[in-house]
This record gives sequence, C-alpha cells and structure tokens, in this order.
Amino acid sequence: MATILYQDQFIDRKQAKVDIEDRGYQFGDGIYEAMMVYSGRIFLLEPHLKRLERSARELSLTLPYSIDHLADNIKKLIELNQLEDGVVYFQITRGAAPRQHFFPEHTPPVITGTVSSKVRDLSKRPKGIKAVLAEDIRWLRCDIKTLNLLGNVLAKQKAHNVNAGEAILHRGETVTEGSSSNVFIVKAGELVTHPADHRILNGITRLFVFDLAKRLDIPVSEREFSLKELLHADEVFITSTSNEVKPVLQIDDQRINGGEPGALSKKLIAAFDAEVERIRTQPVS
Ligand code: PLP
Repeated sequence: MATILYQDQFIDRKQAKVDIEDRGYQFGDGIYEAMMVYSGRIFLLEPHLKRLERSARELSLTLPYSIDHLADNIKKLIELNQLEDGVVYFQITRGAAPRQHFFPEHTPPVITGTVSSKVRDLSKRPKGIKAVLAEDIRWLRCDIKTLNLLGNVLAKQKAHNVNAGEAILHRGETVTEGSSSNVFIVKAGELVTHPADHRILNGITRLFVFDLAKRLDIPVSEREFSLKELLHADEVFITSTSNEVKPVLQIDDQRINGGEPGALSKKLIAAFDAEVERIRTQPVS
C-alpha cells in the first residue's frame, strides 16, 4: 500500500527517508503498535493508543502530537489507502542527533505509519498451531512495546526452523509468553495466564480475552504456571493482535488435548469472531 504516514504528512512510501543515525535504527530505541483493521474500522484502537503512551513514558520519549491527533492520522492513513481488512503498523523512534547530544531533548522523534492488507478468510483459518519451547533470554522490561526484539526474533526463528507457528518462552520452569503472543492454559475449566509484570507484554488481545471470558462466565487466573502445567494442560492457546485467539495443538513432541482445539478455546474464538463482525457495521468514528 503506497501511502505512508511520515511525521505529520502522508507521502508515497518511496519518498520516505530514515536518517542513518536514527536511534531506532541504531539501537532499537523506539516503540510501536500493530492494530487490526476490519472493514476500515480499527479494532481496539483506544487500548492500543494507551499502551503506546505508556511505552513512550517509560522510555522518556516525548510525543510531538497529542494522542488524539495521532489517532486521527492513523484513521486518515487507512482512508487514503482505502484499506478494508488488514494491519496498521505505527512506530515512533527517538530520531537522530549528533553523538555528543545523546539525551532525549536533542532528538526529535520520528513517527511513521504503514498499512498492509490481509483478508480475514475464516475458511482458510487453521484449527491450531504447533509450538516449540525456547528459553526466555530477553531483558526484564518486556512490558514495554519497544523495537528491541532480538530475543523474540531468535525464538521465532527456532520455531520457524521446525515449521512451528510460535515459540513458547520460559524462564527456568516458569512459562512467560510467546515470542509474539501471550500464552493461556486451561485447567479444570479455568483460564490461567502469566501476570502482567515486567516479564511479559500485557497484550491488548489478552485483556480482550479477559472481557470475553467474563461475559462467558469463564474464570481467569493471572498467576505463574510451570512448563509441566503447560504440557499437561487441558487446552493451550495464544493471543495476539494478528493471531487473535489461536489453539496450540502440539508443543515440541507433546500433543495437547489429543491435537484438537478444546471446548473453551472454541467458545472464545466464536465470541471473538462475533465481536469482529459487530464492529464491521459500527459507524466509522
Ligand atoms: N507478547 C509479545 C512479546 C508480543 O510481541 C505480542 C504482540 O506482538 C503480544 C504479547 C500480544 O500483544 P497484543 O495482543 O497486544 O498484540
């Protein structure tokens, strides 16, 4: 899709230039959000923007525009590209400044936004994925959605090498999250997922699943759980913006629920699908 957001302007993608000394490019010093778009409507825009604000605050990255203005620009980007179903990716880096001026007041942030289309074809949706286990080697501020993602990338490569869809990370015996998702297990009718501390990203989809579970009267427990609990869970699923709710049917050599999606996973997916269909007909704000 040709039109991108660059600072406060809409330009052709080919005209975009990033300074070779941009701190985002050099050090991963920046933040981002990815959001789904369904029928031209941004799904869960508000919580994504709130998290972006929080990430900026945690890194002392001063946003040059109000969050409402950023939201208007993201909507305009979707309109200009006539995006129906797809993803909007929004990024803010520290920008570039002479080396002796390392500190934030000297570096005007660089804002970019891009969109790509992705048709949500339910007839082609796999019933679940295979996952691998990987040691969580990331830093201890995984709660900030930064561009510093090498630990995630290496884990994802490990999954990709064996044709698995996700790597489930663990610190010692404790399961944290996926390389680009949150992990839930089902045990005796209850959803269990790692608490939202510094070791995981508090996913917007994770929080949305809490809402769905409440509506469906499914109890949720935010507590640490072990590798043993994971491998012996009744059901396992991951959540993320692009994966939505996706059952995990096998982890390394261990099949979960006989390799079939479980009842609660299916209930949550149906509720999620209903929400997506509902927002398709809502007025575009
Ligand atoms: N955890 C990590 C490490 C992620 O990268 C992501 C998404 O990219 C998530 C969790 C899920 O977050 P969200 O539901 O906001 O997409």
